[in-house]
Amino acid sequence: MRVAVAEIIKKEGEEVELFGWVHARRDHGKLAFIDLRDRSGIVQVVFGPSAGGGAAGGDPSVLRLEYVIRVKGKVKRRPPAMVNKDIPTGEYEVDAKELEIVSQAEPLPFPVDTAGYEINEELRLKYRYLDLRRERLVKGLEFRHRVVKFIRDYLDERGFLEIETPDLTRSTPEGARDYLVPSRIKTGSFYALPQSPQQYKQLLMVAGIEKYFQIARCFRDEDARGDRQPEFTQLDMEMSFAEQEDLIKLNEELLIALVNAVAPGKRIQEIPFPRLSYADAMKEYGTDRPDLRKDKDDKDLLAFCWVVDFPFFEKTENGGWTFTHNPFSAPKPEHMDDFLAKRNIGGILTTQYDVVMNGLEIGGGSIRNHRAEALKAAFEIMGFAEERIRASFGHMLEALAYGAPPHGGIAWGLDRLVSLLAGEPNIREVIAFPKTGDGRDPMMGSPAEVDKSQLDELGLEVKKIKK
Ligand code: ASP
Repeated sequence: MRVAVAEIIKKEGEEVELFGWVHARRDHGKLAFIDLRDRSGIVQVVFGPSAGGGAAGGDPSVLRLEYVIRVKGKVKRRPPAMVNKDIPTGEYEVDAKELEIVSQAEPLPFPVDTAGYEINEELRLKYRYLDLRRERLVKGLEFRHRVVKFIRDYLDERGFLEIETPDLTRSTPEGARDYLVPSRIKTGSFYALPQSPQQYKQLLMVAGIEKYFQIARCFRDEDARGDRQPEFTQLDMEMSFAEQEDLIKLNEELLIALVNAVAPGKRIQEIPFPRLSYADAMKEYGTDRPDLRKDKDDKDLLAFCWVVDFPFFEKTENGGWTFTHNPFSAPKPEHMDDFLAKRNIGGILTTQYDVVMNGLEIGGGSIRNHRAEALKAAFEIMGFAEERIRASFGHMLEALAYGAPPHGGIAWGLDRLVSLLAGEPNIREVIAFPKTGDGRDPMMGSPAEVDKSQLDELGLEVKKIKK
């Protein structure tokens, strides 16, 4: 029975069977030392004369870095002078009796026993499966898992259902360009990958689900910008019969509980989180994502705040209006009359609330228009013709006509939150298989051209576009 490396501290004097990778090797005359690594950690394995070259044992001198091996041996306490305080198994070692090479390894393109920041990122991503062997990245994935599990458990206890929504959908007007997927069966038609599950989660409210969440993948075809990924993960949430205050309170409590549980070394500067209006934030800080930290040198200080009372609409380049955040949002109740009458448009404030941490927006949401005429008014203000509104949002307007509960929600950018709490400089460090800054995956070689036969089936022809 295989024993994980981290378990050996409970097995002094016992014979154990370990499987893992050769992390390091040192030869000292008659003794050879191997650092054996599995996901749980590293342990020193000693090959004395009893193991080396014997019929039952293997010869450790043939081992190379990153070979996969099986070792059987006895767990022993190390002499006090030999204790390695840097690793949790450091008071013990395994005295090898049997060695088997399970899998050989070519020399790696880069070392995996360092933090890895110093290695060219293109190379790291090309060999991501090797890059992920480094302890820092394993820890990052473990941390992310704990964050997501905490959120799931927390919301589950409060009656939320996690519900999956489709990845093949149609365009949602959320401000970014869609990724399109051609339909083979309906040649010339396209699905769009969701920019967020916005419409589905609202339709789940119409369905009577009341409390929904999803760890949701979202897709936005935007130009490369440092810390952006074409696909990213949101904690997406929606709730019926809830007002702005309820959503702010629930999310604030969840954030505090999450930080305390997964990153207890962090200190939250102010609870309850301060709230600022958009106007005040702009006036005082010149930004709607103010960094309120009183001590910016303190890497463990988290300064959260909520920003509210955003203008609903802003002017477009050609003099029309577009939404600042989300076209499905409701205006503030006191602005509903103006909204429905399409008057004083620049003065209408939305129910949008953004949550900001250390100057970075980590989430945002709003109360939605649950009455069809209000949703329609938003699109009319933006100059959408009746026909276009019907074609694009007819299903939403229709759904709202069948007894829609008042509802609202929020989405958090999970990649960024995890990277900030993990103290990583970039979201790519906490995503198992991220893309480069310009949207490529050097490991899979995506995006890639496809066979002509595939295009033919889809009725597509590729035009060369000069860039
Ligand atoms: N759908 C919005 C977004 O993805 C969030 C929300 O309002 O719930 O940013």
